[in-house]
Amino acid sequence: MKILVCIKQVPDTTKVAIDPKTGSLIRWGADAKMNPYDLFALEAAMRLKDQGLASVEVLTMGPPNAIEVLKEALGLGADKGVLLSDRGFAGADVLATSSTLSLAIQHLNRDYDLILCGKQTTDGDTAQVGPAIAQKLGIPHIAWVEEIKSILTDGMIVEANLTKCVQECKILFPCLLTIEKDYASPRYPSYVKMKQFDPTSIVTLSLSELGGDSVKHLVGSLGSPTSVERIFPPESEVISMKLSGKTTEIADQLVAYLHHEHFIMKGTV
Ligand code: FAD
Repeated sequence: MKILVCIKQVPDTTKVAIDPKTGSLIRWGADAKMNPYDLFALEAAMRLKDQGLASVEVLTMGPPNAIEVLKEALGLGADKGVLLSDRGFAGADVLATSSTLSLAIQHLNRDYDLILCGKQTTDGDTAQVGPAIAQKLGIPHIAWVEEIKSILTDGMIVEANLTKCVQECKILFPCLLTIEKDYASPRYPSYVKMKQFDPTSIVTLSLSELGGDSVKHLVGSLGSPTSVERIFPPESEVISMKLSGKTTEIADQLVAYLHHEHFIMKGTV
């Protein structure tokens, strides 16, 4: 089975500042690390590899130093890595990110049976990139998978945690799964594998390899119909009020207030 794991380098958010003028994250100089949720996707892939069932490739789109997360993945046991890096990929929203990753997957033309993504990232945090890749590649996907129960010849049985219920389903290859954080504890990188790092096991692709001018409107800021206007911490306020009267009057006043503030809808109480 050929597995591709999509991994993203994210800022160490506790140390990242926000530019007060632009509202953007100041990524320069900030520590970076692998998106923690992607470690669970990698662990899922490694467990299949441990059973002799899979080869594992990792893919990331990011600045040149995102190669570090690929090296970490190789230290965890991945076989090969692909870095997508080009100024033309910068400023991508979810649509452009998923377009770029899908274009790369098509360009690599490796007939992956299984594509794994993390459940979400700790910076963009939309949880949409995995399903969007599946949509663009025209393959089925299941999100929030917390167990791969069995591998069949044509697909697999997985368990997805939908919060209010756990769904066990069969999905056919080729397919994409996003992996929940409860999947399994991620392993640590092997010092020996890190020392044995072979630079030829990572290839870098730029916009020209993905189609150059013919696709530049699909990637980066050009391919992003959305943009972040401002980032700010949510304002919170504590309101206290005193209601008086008989119990039924107090209840009526409370219900009227909750209606007025749109906490409940008319007709629901
Ligand atoms: P999620 O959907 O939460 O990630 C799910 C999984 O997808 C990950 O666990 C991983 O497996 C995979 N994945 C996600 N991203 C990658 C990647 N790059 N490489 C490999 N695998 C990946 N960012 C900027 O830097 N500049 C901008 O101008 C900018 N504008 C934005 C505008 C909007 C409206 C939004 C919503 C986001 C913007 N971002 C911008 C953030 C950027 O779009 C997201 O970081 C990016 O689209 C990935 O989405 P996410 O982080 O929410 O990933």
